Amino acid sequence: MDLVFYPDPVLQRRADPVPDDFEGLFELANGMLQLMVKENGVGLAAPQVGRSLRVFVASKTGDPKDGIVAINPKVTPYGSPVPQEEGCLSLPGLRYEVMRPESVRIAYRSVDGKQHEAEYDGLMARIIQHEYDHLEGVLFIERLSEADRLRARQDLAALEEQAPG
Ligand code: ZN
Repeated sequence: MDLVFYPDPVLQRRADPVPDDFEGLFELANGMLQLMVKENGVGLAAPQVGRSLRVFVASKTGDPKDGIVAINPKVTPYGSPVPQEEGCLSLPGLRYEVMRPESVRIAYRSVDGKQHEAEYDGLMARIIQHEYDHLEGVLFIERLSEADRLRARQDLAALEEQAPG
């Protein structure tokens, strides 16, 4: 399992729901958790490993034991928008401040098929919103202020040049 980088089109496509009888879910989730740990990340979405499926992992410590594997999640952000710097494993080297609501409600299925509902704030709420955006084909660079968006243009051009093909 390998990371997919901007500007791969899989990152800008809305991911498909995971069918109830989907085989290979455990392997996919496990592989994503391992890759998150290896890359020192705090979250990873399936499109970032080239799979257009509605699955993400998120852990505010980077330790899978502290995190969640969310399948077909429904995410509702709420509360005041707060700024925080973000990065993304698919956009190496880019770090910019993003405004997001401080809390989320999330409903999701876990790998064992159980349904969960939870509320988070702080870093976990931020990670969940970032990863959920990936399932919608939205990258954090699309949520920058106008000034940062102009600054990010050069970084993005550099990534586009490095892209194979
Ligand atoms: Zn990301």
